[in-house]
Amino acid sequence: MRHVAIVGSGPAGYYTAETLQKADDMAVDVIDRLPVPYGLIRTGVAPDHQSIKAVSRRYEGVALTDNVRFVGHVAVGSDVSIEELTDLYDAVVLATGAPHDRPLDIAGADLPGVIGSAAFVGWYNGHPDFAKLDPPLDAPGVVVIGNGNVALDVARILAKTPAEFAGSDIVAHARAALADSAVRHIHILGRRGPHQIAMTPKELGELGHLERASPRVDPADLPPEGDDVMLEPGMRKSVTHLRQFAANPVAKPVTIDFDFFAMPVAIEGEGRVQRVIVERTTLDADLRSHGTGETYAIEAGLVVSCIGYQTPPIPGVPYEHGRGRFASDDGRILPGLYAVGWARRGPSGTIGTNKPDGARIAEMVIEDIGRGAGKAGRAGLDALLASRNVVPVTFRDWRRIEAAEVAAALDGNPREKFTSVEAMLAAIGR
Ligand code: NAP
Repeated sequence: MRHVAIVGSGPAGYYTAETLQKADDMAVDVIDRLPVPYGLIRTGVAPDHQSIKAVSRRYEGVALTDNVRFVGHVAVGSDVSIEELTDLYDAVVLATGAPHDRPLDIAGADLPGVIGSAAFVGWYNGHPDFAKLDPPLDAPGVVVIGNGNVALDVARILAKTPAEFAGSDIVAHARAALADSAVRHIHILGRRGPHQIAMTPKELGELGHLERASPRVDPADLPPEGDDVMLEPGMRKSVTHLRQFAANPVAKPVTIDFDFFAMPVAIEGEGRVQRVIVERTTLDADLRSHGTGETYAIEAGLVVSCIGYQTPPIPGVPYEHGRGRFASDDGRILPGLYAVGWARRGPSGTIGTNKPDGARIAEMVIEDIGRGAGKAGRAGLDALLASRNVVPVTFRDWRRIEAAEVAAALDGNPREKFTSVEAMLAAIGR
């Protein structure tokens, strides 16, 4: 028997398991520190994007195959070390994603009310680490920093009415806080221009269909229309949305302003964030942004920094600090140790990007480990965890947690989510 441990039960982890489980004599353990599987699908993808979340049913199919096992509520690093895993398994694949925010390195970034997108997204999605975040929604102004899809998610969630969350799985605490929100003016800051956004057309187009909020683009920020032919088709569609927003400003109570060529340089406030100082930028020939020295202020009670994520390092595992990911040779970190998904390539691409990535790393593992080295595998892990009184959560346990979540769902919510590890464990009588 060949034994593979995958650390992380998100998309990259399950796509890797999907290919591995088709190989003969293969036992795959998918280990997660939470008692619930699916990583970003559960706690990263926006709650009003249920069609994207539906991919978890595919992962469930993988999880239910005979040679794949979910080992939940086991923290690699404290319950078991990487060295112990590489001793027990023929291969260990790190599919730990990129759950930490890239730091916003400007004065005032540590003021209360300045929040990274990992925390903010985790809050409205019920991640146990961020359920108690309680973001300040008591002021009309919010600044969202970044021009990627996460910035769009954050702006859209802040702008929606309670009715627009029908059918979403937004958690109750976020639904209630947003229903009481005083937020009226959302600014999305991009340090470069409309042709340099990292926003996809479907997600950008959604902003044009919100009940009480309308997007606004200053026509002066748009390059000449003829320049759009140079863009690849997806980007061209995105920019077309921006042109439509600029051409048809619609008066609604909540505004979402795209501030292009706008670089945050400081955050100010007495005891909490009150305003963001923004410097106007220009682009050089290599499309890099440079400050012009001209600044303006945006009043804001909340700043959400959506400037990308990074993988937390693990002691002893080679790491690329500049890129915020494990150092690997196209997936191979050290003999017997691999990285896949965002942990390998950094936080880019969609959920689907992880499918070929997972398949490729799985094939690499299958080739490298040959017939296996007769390692102890899952029996060895079970013995080690038992000796430490660590009781893993099984996939069967997860199904019971899930059933309890469905039973607890409020009207219009396809599934309430438990937002603490204690509540998850209580659902299985622990
Ligand atoms: P992203 O796409 O890399 O965008 C990050 C943005 O932050 C860029 O606009 C970048 O601008 C800006 N930025 C970086 N450092 C900055 C700084 N110091 N000051 C100001 N701006 C700064 O990252 P993301 O939005 O976190 O998304 C991560 C991945 O998840 C992406 O692949 C995204 O498409 C994906 N995602 C997909 C969906 C979906 O499909 N529905 C939803 C959410 C996320 P520059 O370009 O100037 O560096």
